[in-house]
Amino acid sequence: MPTLLLSLLLLQSDETLLKELQALTPLAQTDERTLRAMVEQTLPRVAKVMHARAPKNPTVKIVSRTAAAGKLKAVLAREYPGDRLARLGAALKAVHLIEPQVDLQREALELYATNVGGFYDPHDRTLYLLADQPAVMQRLAIAHELAHAIQDEQLGLERLTREAMRSEDAQLALSAALEGNAQAVAAEVVGADSGDEDGMAGALIAESTALSASLAAQASGVNPWLALQLSFPYEAGGELVRAVATKDDPAACRLLSRLPASTAQVLDPAIYRNNQAPLRGSIGLASLLPGTERVYETTLGRANIDLLARSHDAGRLVEGWRGDVLELAKKGAMQSAAWAIAFKEARQAEAFAKFYSKLLGAKDRVDGAAVEDKEGSISGVIVRGSAVLILIRVPVERWNPVVNGWDVFGAATISASDEARRLEALRR
Ligand SMILES: [Zn+2]
Repeated sequence: MPTLLLSLLLLQSDETLLKELQALTPLAQTDERTLRAMVEQTLPRVAKVMHARAPKNPTVKIVSRTAAAGKLKAVLAREYPGDRLARLGAALKAVHLIEPQVDLQREALELYATNVGGFYDPHDRTLYLLADQPAVMQRLAIAHELAHAIQDEQLGLERLTREAMRSEDAQLALSAALEGNAQAVAAEVVGADSGDEDGMAGALIAESTALSASLAAQASGVNPWLALQLSFPYEAGGELVRAVATKDDPAACRLLSRLPASTAQVLDPAIYRNNQAPLRGSIGLASLLPGTERVYETTLGRANIDLLARSHDAGRLVEGWRGDVLELAKKGAMQSAAWAIAFKEARQAEAFAKFYSKLLGAKDRVDGAAVEDKEGSISGVIVRGSAVLILIRVPVERWNPVVNGWDVFGAATISASDEARRLEALRR
């Protein structure tokens, strides 16, 4: 999903939390003039927490919820031109991350438009504030969106988000750093308002935003994948910020000078500290299946694959994730997918292959496990070294060439002894 720089202040759904926060911050009128004055007052304080220079006169627009929904729709259409969102949906459906009947476009719009408390659009470098928020939430939203404005000054968010579009994993990791940081900055600024010396109010605010993102995602009844895209940046991003923060840098602004490259880095601060980059590669499915055209390519990443395993009660299967690539190709109405996942160790690849074979209902064969589909094509799972290849709806006559031809991550996942063992097994 695109990196929508929202401030998801969903405290309307939690009255106790709202009351606690109102006790911490004074109530104010939130007419347009007051809001603009609040922006002016808050900006230098946000800049101070971020050890940054305040941008001059950020553009602020105060909009109705209907106008905000319209604007988000336009942003979504800009980030996903044409049928790109539908093609992403098809790729996610092919590997069972979302159910076949899900309409991603409709659910995404509904979810974001209902829950947004404000947002920053790096394309027009404008802060959008919603007119209908209670005063206490305006304070948080303003500090949060100003943090995005400063991130944009420092990093150029439009370029960064465009670069991350090639990978769902990279997008989610980028969002987590940006939202985790903005959320912590807002908590510092609003916490300081309440004369809070020990940071308790700040911590409460940061936790409540993360909590409300996940509550809203659950309450909205959207599919679990979309719910994860909404909640992960605030929850996991918040945790990464806490792991990296120091007394001098309580909002972990250092994350902005080296952004996490994968959700594996977001979920495990040790991987972030080691700066371990994900393995990248290409399957070339469309060329392995003559007559097909390429539909979509992405990397799903540890957070998304974790969700898949969790939703099938498979537990912690994705810990050794080192990289993955998912490709979707089609010929007429027939869609085929190939998904290669690299793990650190062969046993992790084998455990994932076992889980996925069961999910497909595949039967063991010499080079992996496979099942014949309704369409007469084959789906299955192959392990090679510490990598797994999942094939969905591959024409029968193309099974062997595809299985023998794949080498996505090269020597990073297949050692010479792995290869010798595989050839030995095939001979038998
Ligand atoms: Zn945000």
